[in-house]
Amino acid sequence: MELDELDINILRTIQDNSRLSLRQISEKVKASVPTVSHKIADMEDFGVIRGYQTVLDTERLGELSVILTIKARPSDLNSIAERFRNDENVRMLFILSNGRLHMICTFGNSHLINDFVRRLGKIPEIIEYDISNIIHVVKENQRALIIPNLNLVLQCQSCKKEIRDNPVRIKSDRRDYYFCSNACAIAFQEKMEEFRTEPQS
Ligand SMILES: [Zn+2]
Repeated sequence: MELDELDINILRTIQDNSRLSLRQISEKVKASVPTVSHKIADMEDFGVIRGYQTVLDTERLGELSVILTIKARPSDLNSIAERFRNDENVRMLFILSNGRLHMICTFGNSHLINDFVRRLGKIPEIIEYDISNIIHVVKENQRALIIPNLNLVLQCQSCKKEIRDNPVRIKSDRRDYYFCSNACAIAFQEKMEEFRTEPQS
């Protein structure tokens, strides 16, 4: 699935400034408000637009950051990554091709870095790790590269794997959901049903 020129222009506009109103965006990309609103909703559904955040400067906040590379057996990388997924100190976490996991972590003070390192020592799957303090941030850019003819890589809403064949689409609550297989679609629908029938407290 390819993004069209309007999609690309919208992404470019809102990546530069996510605080623009729908009207301002539509003026910039020269399309109607309903069209822009529809396109943005679609790209949110596809997971291309993950959210809208304020970019804060950790250095100005006096926080300390480290870059950490962990070496482990490739089969252990996912489970190690899961331990850190919800850790608020871990700002970025990447699984690399060479049996390594790469993290960028930020802390309020150096004692907390030591505590973190102590925790690493208790994880048996970690073969070795390398940690460096970041002395100065020269460039830190979470922006995507927006170029013509970008293709969407859809993620299955159920198993979170990349969808390689034609996606199975389900409309629910006026949203589109995409799945890699009928089995995943059914699993998701059952979960939604459960959620709906749960008593409201
Ligand atoms: Zn799936």
